[in-house]
Amino acid sequence: MTQTTLMSIPGQIDPVPVARDITPREDGRVDLIGLPKDRIRELFDEAGLDAKQAKLRAKQVFHWLYHRGVTDFEAMTDIAKTMRPWLAERFFIGRPDVVEAQHSTDGTRKWLLRTSDGHEFEMVFIPDADRGTLCVSSQVGCTLNCRFCHTGTMRLVRNLTPGEIVGQVMLARDALGEWPKGSMAGLEVEEDSAQYTSDGRLLTNIVMMGMGEPLYNFDNVKGALKLVMDGEGLALSKRRITLSTSGVVPAMERCGEEIGVNLAVSLHAVTKEIRDEIVPLNKKYGIDELLEACAAYPGASNARRITFEYVMLKDKNDTDEHAHELVRLLKHYKLPAKVNLIPFNPWPGAPYECSTPERVKRFSEIVFEHGISAPVRTPRGRDIDAACGQLKTAAEKKSRAQRDREAAEALEPAATA
Ligand code: SAH
Ligand code: SF4
Repeated sequence: MTQTTLMSIPGQIDPVPVARDITPREDGRVDLIGLPKDRIRELFDEAGLDAKQAKLRAKQVFHWLYHRGVTDFEAMTDIAKTMRPWLAERFFIGRPDVVEAQHSTDGTRKWLLRTSDGHEFEMVFIPDADRGTLCVSSQVGCTLNCRFCHTGTMRLVRNLTPGEIVGQVMLARDALGEWPKGSMAGLEVEEDSAQYTSDGRLLTNIVMMGMGEPLYNFDNVKGALKLVMDGEGLALSKRRITLSTSGVVPAMERCGEEIGVNLAVSLHAVTKEIRDEIVPLNKKYGIDELLEACAAYPGASNARRITFEYVMLKDKNDTDEHAHELVRLLKHYKLPAKVNLIPFNPWPGAPYECSTPERVKRFSEIVFEHGISAPVRTPRGRDIDAACGQLKTAAEKKSRAQRDREAAEALEPAATA
């Protein structure tokens, strides 16, 4: 079925085995979603248009794809009628397939999505009073195995392509009915679409906090976010985009320089012993190295602070001493910081429990008393397993159950023999 092979990520960044090859479409058409305008122009050129035509058509098509959200060449009304079938024969406008869409009682929505070659991944939309945040995945699964994270227990990992990453944002706009008027023919607009912003959009912010470690899929994440930030594309400000990393130090500077979005760092512990246990990447890039990279993060300032995520694990990382040490470290490295305390979201078989509410409150107060903002993040969408660290596809859960059953069956004859 899927034809993926295991390869290392080349270059300086860590040699993490990731299945990377994408199965080409059977009909041979090229999916345009995820491609920058120049690449679209090149493809039109290679397909036989002269240079001037290729440039003009690329500009028009790019606008229809990313600004208007159309999924059919026939809807591109400023392109000659005869040209549209020519495009449709050679090209394709993809979206990830929706396997399942769930709605939480608190308004959070989760979509189980599938790539064209059959890999499943998830995205989550979190509406709030003054914003709507889309939590986007960068990989199918994750290679990093943080001990408190369900995604880290997935066996299969593949990098998502730029098209599959930006496709999540486009799909969310489809579902929320948020493309500029004139492209909505055939789409059902939800009646409960409240107006959040002056331009009437619900989807105002993006966080790269879904499945996967975005800095282990740097080029694809960069390509996708460039399209999201492009004024002629999805046109979302870089100030409304946050990338969360577990601490891939060698890629952090590039992230600030080449992508320029806000940074969130999954710190989660303040001693080597504890961070080594819960975020094993710490054995490679320790706390000091990580915080030095944060201090050097291009674009960070008091107006654009770095978010330090800290998951609250009972009797593990949640004492008063830990809170004081956190303050000391952030001050020592002179970090423009805010701390986000995340109550641990449990999943079946997880080796930790969440700290008590009193403990979380006290921890927050200590950090706050030292002048650093430390709000406690309200868990959202727990009833549909959409909260931080709970993302793991139903198919994976099922296949695990299936595997267990098969293992039990395999044992049976031996037991009776
Ligand atoms: N891989 C990236 C981004 C995805 S995870 C990273 O680790 O930063 C988004 C956030 O959710 C991270 O801070 C992660 O540590 C946190 N998280 C993972 N599992 C969790 C859980 N079970 N409960 C609460 N937060 C969790
Ligand atoms: Fe991967 Fe982030 Fe989960 Fe760690 S917390 S396993 S880096 S997704």
